[in-house]
Amino acid sequence: MDERRVHILNDAPYAGGPVVYWMSRDQRVRDNWALLYARDLAAVHRAPLVVLFCLATAFVGAREEHYAFMLAGLREVEEDLRSRGIPFFVECGDPIRTAPTFAKRLKAGMVVTDFDPLRIKRRWRESLAAGVCIPVHEVDAHNIVPCRAASAKLEYGAYTLRKKLERLLPGFLVPVPALKKFDSPAAFDLVDWARVYRAAGITGGGVSRLRIKSGPRSALRAMRRFLEKGLGDYSWARNDPSIDGQSGLSPYLHFGQLSAQRLALEVSRSPLRGRDDFLEQLVVRRELSDNYCLYNPHYDSFEGIPAWARKTLDKHRADIREYVYARDDLEFARTHDPLWNAAQAGLLKLGTMHGYLRMYWAKKILEWSASPEEAYETAVVLNDRYELDGRDPNGYAGIAWSIGGAHDRPWAERPVFGMVRYMSFNGCKSKFNIRRYIESIENA
Ligand SMILES: Cc1cc2nc3c(=O)[nH]c(=O)nc-3n(C[C@H](O)[C@H](O)[C@H](O)COP(=O)(O)OP(=O)(O)OC[C@H]3O[C@@H](n4cnc5c(N)ncnc54)[C@H](O)[C@@H]3O)c2cc1C
Repeated sequence: MDERRVHILNDAPYAGGPVVYWMSRDQRVRDNWALLYARDLAAVHRAPLVVLFCLATAFVGAREEHYAFMLAGLREVEEDLRSRGIPFFVECGDPIRTAPTFAKRLKAGMVVTDFDPLRIKRRWRESLAAGVCIPVHEVDAHNIVPCRAASAKLEYGAYTLRKKLERLLPGFLVPVPALKKFDSPAAFDLVDWARVYRAAGITGGGVSRLRIKSGPRSALRAMRRFLEKGLGDYSWARNDPSIDGQSGLSPYLHFGQLSAQRLALEVSRSPLRGRDDFLEQLVVRRELSDNYCLYNPHYDSFEGIPAWARKTLDKHRADIREYVYARDDLEFARTHDPLWNAAQAGLLKLGTMHGYLRMYWAKKILEWSASPEEAYETAVVLNDRYELDGRDPNGYAGIAWSIGGAHDRPWAERPVFGMVRYMSFNGCKSKFNIRRYIESIENA
């Protein structure tokens, strides 16, 4: 594995004991660089390998459905690990406490964990690295080109990161080796899932109400379906919410049930027309979001947007708004706009929203809120609360783009938006069949 995937978080020496892979963002066994790295270290040190997952309750507004989806995937992870002789543990509670306690209880020799640019995850990792006397290594198994290796600074836009990725991709877009079976030293206990579901506050047996099936196996099936049936039409179909020509893979990517690297490799081998447009989204746009969150400490608030956008939105903050809605009205889809209401109602019902409408949705929140700060907060809260793929760098960068002009350029000045790009109902009308979209949500 390319050493640039690894970031060493403390300088403690390895002095014997099990290698713990603290799985967090990349919840899969297959195609997982962090797990492979931990496995290799365990083999080198002739030490046992164990995998830990720390279940944080009340994670950035996550709901029961999100936990149910994640836990169903983790049950599959446990099976996959067991079949390779690797024990799996789930610790419930605040990871600031549970991760070091687990490492100490196990007399671990070192911890390997996933890269994640979000504040809360960084705090967990940094607190562990400072609180134990064993090495803690972070591995970027989520990005194809590791985020820290792709760029050492906040990028202005897709065009600046694209150039860097293009240079590095040939070295990184390679098949991920298979994980070999591990000679487990002893029999190990299975996870008490009833306890874990209780800790996550899941009632009703943990059956997710969402219509997408969770788990790495379902993720691979969905990927194959998209490669056969969706990729060819992706370029023209992806911006039409009434026919839904996107892949629908973002929940699998978000929870790490599907490796973006495997998906990108499969897509890059395809002769189909949608290939390049899809790779632009999956590689450039997705990795740009991680860059945004890694290098911008205010990635989820108005404070983090580019200076030109802040200035122009400030200038227009006193503009008369034709409609101003309270957060409740937005949350429960009670606006005058039938398209926006359908998008929000669909989000409440299905836990997802079409990508084109996510832009319209956020921009209208800006247009109908008393201030850009309030709009920003509402968009972040609702996105994180209801999107199955929420609480993700893509969401924070998407909102920053829509409301705060991040990764975009100034456009013609207009009320409320200033020079931030505007989107209108009539613009949507000229692009797709709004009635058909609304009906599709009503009938869903
Ligand atoms: C306001 C707003 C909020 C958003 N919130 C989220 C979110 O919470 N979680 C999330 O994963 N995405 C979010 N996005 C980005 C994008 O809309 C979704 O990734 C996409 O709609 C997911 O559907 P898909 O997997 O079918 O996408 P596809 O079109 O099939 O794309 C494949 C993959 O490429 C990546 N991708 C596509 N578009 C973008 C984009 N604009 N930015 C970054 N990566 C992209 C995603 O990983 C996606 O799964 C948001 C965008 C906006 C404008």
